[in-house]
Amino acid sequence: MAYASSVLVDKYLRTRKIPSTACSGCGLGMNHKIIVQAIAELGLETQDIIWGTSIGCAGRQTFGTWKGDGFAGTHGRVYAIARGLRVTLPPEKKLILTVGDGDAFGIGLLHLIHCARSNASMTVVVNDNLGYQSTGGQFGFTTPQGAKTDSSPYGMFEHNLMSEGMDVLDILKAAGATFLARHVAMEGQAVVETMKKAISNPGFSLVHMPYPCPTNFAARHLGSRVQVNIYNWIKDHAAPMGQEKPDTIWRTGIYHDARGARPEFSEHVWEAVNRIRRTGRL
Ligand code: SF4
Repeated sequence: MAYASSVLVDKYLRTRKIPSTACSGCGLGMNHKIIVQAIAELGLETQDIIWGTSIGCAGRQTFGTWKGDGFAGTHGRVYAIARGLRVTLPPEKKLILTVGDGDAFGIGLLHLIHCARSNASMTVVVNDNLGYQSTGGQFGFTTPQGAKTDSSPYGMFEHNLMSEGMDVLDILKAAGATFLARHVAMEGQAVVETMKKAISNPGFSLVHMPYPCPTNFAARHLGSRVQVNIYNWIKDHAAPMGQEKPDTIWRTGIYHDARGARPEFSEHVWEAVNRIRRTGRL
């Protein structure tokens, strides 16, 4: 059942933080709404979730908006904090982290890999604005090749983490993640359904969600801040897996689903601790 935005805001968010600090027309609000919608459809309450945020546009918009408990991590370190929290929290408490592409796939990638390796139960939502937009629009690890940015006026020429058969989701799959997906917000209810699976996973989940940045990315690459242009551009360059076109940048859908296939980190830790306490041996 789709809930109205006002219902979701009243129930789950701090109304004094809405509207957020994002630029007018930013697509980040759509991603944020999808997460809260999934939480509502799962029947979860504010006390069931601890919400962590990071740095940049994604962290700035989602910081302090959650009515329940939350925390902010330093750049790229929010995964390490969450992994520590995971050991101390009851298993039924869920951890949701909203981070940016630089935080997740740049400075934080090593911490992310270790969360995946240990299958620590948390849902990481990577809100990807296709580069370093909060610092003016420089290219980053997920900037589409050829895109004009503040630091690539002739087009982004480096390899990125989605091109030429090299996908950051492959790295996380190899590291041991048990649920991985990629979507653009314009895919509607399909994204909410994926998000529900991610949040329900008793292990490490990550959902990569590119979104429209009219202020910097669109202004430089499309030469226009008209919001509908960048929304259409992202929608046109995304396609469900198996239905790709020659100009598809983002293959969307559930990329890897191995829920329940590996032991969860904190359960594994406590089993070992209790065994040592009981027998004096591992
Ligand atoms: S700079 Fe771009 S991504 Fe950041 S808040 Fe503004 S529109 Fe959104």
